[in-house]
Amino acid sequence: MAQEFIANINGKRWKIRTAVSNLAVRGDCDAPDVKNKQIRVSASIADDEQFCEILTHEILHAADWHRSEEWITSTSKSIANILKKCNFRRVCDD
Ligand SMILES: [Zn+2]
Repeated sequence: MAQEFIANINGKRWKIRTAVSNLAVRGDCDAPDVKNKQIRVSASIADDEQFCEILTHEILHAADWHRSEEWITSTSKSIANILKKCNFRRVCDD
C-alpha cells in the first residue's frame, strides 16, 4: 500500500513516500537543504523488517545528514531488529 504524508524531522519537513514504483534503489533521502525534499522507499520491499530498516535508515539520514553511512546502517539494523522483536507489522487498510 503506497503512502504519502509530510513528516517533521528535527524541525524540517520531508514528504514520506512508500511503495514508490521504478525507484532504482531500495530507499533514498533528499538532503535537508533541498526544496520539497522527500524520503522514498521502493515498492519492491515486501518484508516488514526490511521495510522498517530501510525507512529508519532514510529517516536517520534526514535527522543527521552528516552521520556516516556505517553508523546509519548499523543503527537502522538495530532499530529494525528491536521492532521485529516487538512484533512490528505494517497494516494495510484496503
Ligand atoms: Zn544511507
